[in-house]
Amino acid sequence: MHGFSRLRYFLIALLVFLGVISAALPVIMRNTEKAVDRSTRNDVAWNGWHGNLDFIELRQRVLSFALVPNEQDQEAASLAFDIMLSRIATWQSGRFGEFIADSPRRVALLDHINTEMRAIEPKITRLADIVDRSEVVRVINLIGGDVERIAQEAYTRNAEELTNNAITLRHYQAIQQDAFIALILCTFFLVVLLMVQNRWLIRSNQAEQKIAEENAFLAAHDQLTGLPNRKAFQISLATACMNPDAPVPPTVFVLDLDGFKAINDTLGHKVGDQLLISVAERLTALLGAHPADMAARFGGDEFVLLFHALRDVANAYRLASSILENLRLPHRIEGQSIRIDATIGIASHTPDITEPSELINRADMALNSAKARGKGTALTFEPEMANSIVARQRLEAELAEADIWAEFEPDYQPLVDIATGEIYGLEALARWHHPHRGLISPDDFIPVAESSGKIVEIGRAILEKACRDVMRFERPISISVNLSTVQLLRMDVAAHVASVLEATGLPPHRLKLEITESVMVHDGKAASLLIRQLQAMGVLVSLDDFGTGFSSLSYLRRFGFNELKIDRSFIAGLSQDQQSMAIVRTIIALAHELGMRVIAEGIETDEQAKLVLAAGCARGQGYFFGKPAALSALITQMGEQGAAKAA
Ligand code: C2E
Ligand code: CA
Ligand code: CA
Repeated sequence: MHGFSRLRYFLIALLVFLGVISAALPVIMRNTEKAVDRSTRNDVAWNGWHGNLDFIELRQRVLSFALVPNEQDQEAASLAFDIMLSRIATWQSGRFGEFIADSPRRVALLDHINTEMRAIEPKITRLADIVDRSEVVRVINLIGGDVERIAQEAYTRNAEELTNNAITLRHYQAIQQDAFIALILCTFFLVVLLMVQNRWLIRSNQAEQKIAEENAFLAAHDQLTGLPNRKAFQISLATACMNPDAPVPPTVFVLDLDGFKAINDTLGHKVGDQLLISVAERLTALLGAHPADMAARFGGDEFVLLFHALRDVANAYRLASSILENLRLPHRIEGQSIRIDATIGIASHTPDITEPSELINRADMALNSAKARGKGTALTFEPEMANSIVARQRLEAELAEADIWAEFEPDYQPLVDIATGEIYGLEALARWHHPHRGLISPDDFIPVAESSGKIVEIGRAILEKACRDVMRFERPISISVNLSTVQLLRMDVAAHVASVLEATGLPPHRLKLEITESVMVHDGKAASLLIRQLQAMGVLVSLDDFGTGFSSLSYLRRFGFNELKIDRSFIAGLSQDQQSMAIVRTIIALAHELGMRVIAEGIETDEQAKLVLAAGCARGQGYFFGKPAALSALITQMGEQGAAKAA
């Protein structure tokens, strides 16, 4: 049993006991009182004794008259007789009556006395008469012994009673004493128990308080890292935003780990959790000197920091980059050394912010812009970021309304043999001819179309139009069409390609589909299956933008691409730095080794064309050879190069 409840039972038992004693005490005291009362009462003995005296008086008066008869003694004898009669009456009633009734012998004695007394009653006034007087003397002598016996017994009885009473009295006094001692002991124990109970109560109160505190902590903190959670952060942020006396407005950092998902997926959740804990510890250590500065975890790999003493943007940047540098240092987790990068979005409070959550939104927008520009950096919020979000939302709404087949048309950019300048193929690049806004670039609408899923329909339109258009050229040039990851995940690309080839009559080997590494990162199995399906149909598959993503060499071998497109960022650097040249050379050599053709994107100058050629790449694409253009313009250009069918 729990100690506290045992104590409570004991306390209840003690209180009951105390109650019983308290209730019994008046009874005991009353009995004692009665006993005292009885022991001080000797009325039976007294009555008996005086009865005897009365009788002696009567006898004396009668005998004295008998010696010398005179008027005075006659009267005294009559008076003594009356007194004796009334004594007999008191002997018959009350407590003495009870005493007489206790013994039949005493009843007989008193009856006898009474009868004899009544018999001589008429004679007592006639003592002068010798006959009457001798009768009176005879009776007095006769009953004298009886009276004395009754008096004697009354005395004895009283003495016995007194002894008994004394014993009872002592008994009750002992009980009373014991009861008082018990009462004192009970009171003492009660006080002790109450003190103990009080200690218990204080302790249990403290325990309850601790539990309440723990619950409050859990409600306000992230369980994994122990950092404050979103709710707690919002409360602190609201407090910071509402303080008009603050010398510096509060600044929020939203921090997102780069590539955390990959770590979680490859090394397991346990390692991922440990990494989050390690990041949380470093962030806490890096908080500013201001006591209200805080680092919170909003969930996943998203952390949010609040600073109260960052004076300006330069300050914020300095702190952000020191945080990033610190997080980049290897984390020791389960014996492994793990590196992680992060990106930070920064926003400071300004007077136009009405809701504290707006500050977090702004830091979020800055984070997204930072990620778009290249991870591992920090960026502060600029109003244009909000504009770009609004613009994106507008574009999304317009895209939902757009007539895809009417408004989306491909432009075509030539793919050329660098040495001869001959066009051997075209890349179809989608263009949105917006009825009101004019031409919209794919860099603007492709990300929106991908997130809304519209890319599937746009992709179908472009593929079909491109395949149909390329059939209009006299020469059997090839056509390259871009394929988004979303298309691959949301539609049966192979089936669609097959139906388009059939509908347009384009031989499969003239069609090339360009996919980026992100497809393989997303769903390697599906990508691999699609590549094999397309190649089985005779369609070629090209790896686009090589060098911008993971540039995994194992992808190259595993997925068996027909062609590799070197991203234009390498080509742009060719003339300035030796490193780009070395990289391009290596990529080209490797691709050839793996049996892939190579094409260099983004050739803008003659020099670049020559360098690429010197590096071993025969094919190129770029403004130097021709910008993306509408079909009609190209037909004209191609017509100049060689014969083109009339439209
Ligand atoms: P991409 O597939 O890498 O296409 C090449 C981009 O580089 C084109 O931009 C092209 O105009 C540009 N470019 C070509 N030569 C040069 C050059 O010498 N210098 C410079 N600075 N740029 C050059 P564009 O047409 O704006 O397309 C951008 C991206 O949009 C494409 O990049 C592609 O990823 C995507 N895209 C275009 N059309 C489609 C489409 O139909 N479907 C899908 N899924 N994506 C498309
Ligand atoms: Ca492309
Ligand atoms: Ca490209």
